[in-house]
Amino acid sequence: MSILDCAIIGGGPAGLTAGLYTTRGGLENVTMFEKGMPGGQITNSSEIENYPGATGEITGMELMNPWPEQCQRFGLIHKMSNVTRVSKSGDVFTIYNEDGSTDQAYSVIIGTGSSPRRVGFKGEDELFGKGVSTCATCDGFFYKGKEVAVIGGGDTALEEALYLAKICSKVYIIHRRDTFRSAPNTIKRIENTDNIELVLDSTPDEVYGDKMGVTGIRVKNKNGEMRDIIVPGVFTFVGNDVNNETLKQDDGSFLCEMNDQGQVIVDITMKTSVPGLFATGDMRISAPKQVISAAGDGAVAALQAISYMDELLN
Ligand SMILES: Cc1cc2nc3c(=O)[nH]c(=O)nc-3n(C[C@H](O)[C@H](O)[C@H](O)COP(=O)(O)OP(=O)(O)OC[C@H]3O[C@@H](n4cnc5c(N)ncnc54)[C@H](O)[C@@H]3O)c2cc1C
Repeated sequence: MSILDCAIIGGGPAGLTAGLYTTRGGLENVTMFEKGMPGGQITNSSEIENYPGATGEITGMELMNPWPEQCQRFGLIHKMSNVTRVSKSGDVFTIYNEDGSTDQAYSVIIGTGSSPRRVGFKGEDELFGKGVSTCATCDGFFYKGKEVAVIGGGDTALEEALYLAKICSKVYIIHRRDTFRSAPNTIKRIENTDNIELVLDSTPDEVYGDKMGVTGIRVKNKNGEMRDIIVPGVFTFVGNDVNNETLKQDDGSFLCEMNDQGQVIVDITMKTSVPGLFATGDMRISAPKQVISAAGDGAVAALQAISYMDELLN
């Protein structure tokens, strides 16, 4: 079995861009391992407006469609495989595929993304992408001048509510407690923002809509009283799971250093604590969780992987 110059794990914007830059930059034996169709989570989005140059009404799927073919033109191999683990011994990484086979590589660029947690109320899944969102930067602009609801009470929920309050006419923050788990300064900014209304001690019961999308959300307070909030947009921020399982080793430790939220610690060149292993996109620390930044990470990591291979093999 020949050893790959580079194994790319994940075929979202980060992995595909890493594939383009590694192959076009001279690495000859590069395989991208992707468990489904390449393109990543953005393919679930019905509209993307903030990818530079992609003007007009364009879906996430339409944005991503040409990316795999562009990489394949320069020699990227796409292997459809769910990678269960990556380990390293000496200078060589082993990639464990779900079908029991293994591959080996001198360098690995991982970009397996993240998955926003769902709250679990009625209508949430059915209306996801049609008014229910987990990303204010991505979708806030669609509600310019309109009222929206935010679900959650942590740092992310409050920061995103402040972001939305600059775009939207009013933001309702629905939170199950009467206090927030957030930095005191953020709470003060929330309290001082006129167009934010706090709906405390309340949980979402149901989000509802019509064929155009969300029309409102029904919330229940601690006394069991129901209230309908008429909004076209509902943003949920109840945590984000990093897809880091492939870095877990048999003894439960991680292959490289992670922070306490399970995000991979990298420097500005996407290097992890393990030589030859680069982490990109939504799974790394301080990720803006955007297509453009994931793609940028993929390019940076690829250039680093090319330099790493130069040093290792020459
Ligand atoms: C509904 C929605 C709307 C969004 N809107 C916008 C927007 O308007 N603008 C914007 O910039 N961003 C938007 N985003 C965010 C954007 O999609 C992400 O930031 C970006 O896709 C992250 O890219 P990534 O390559 O890091 O990870 P991902 O896109 O998550 O790709 C990871 C890939 O890895 C694969 N994978 C995971 N585990 C394994 C494994 N073990 N083995 C093999 N393959 C694996 C997955 O199948 C996936 O294809 C949106 C996201 C969603 C969900």
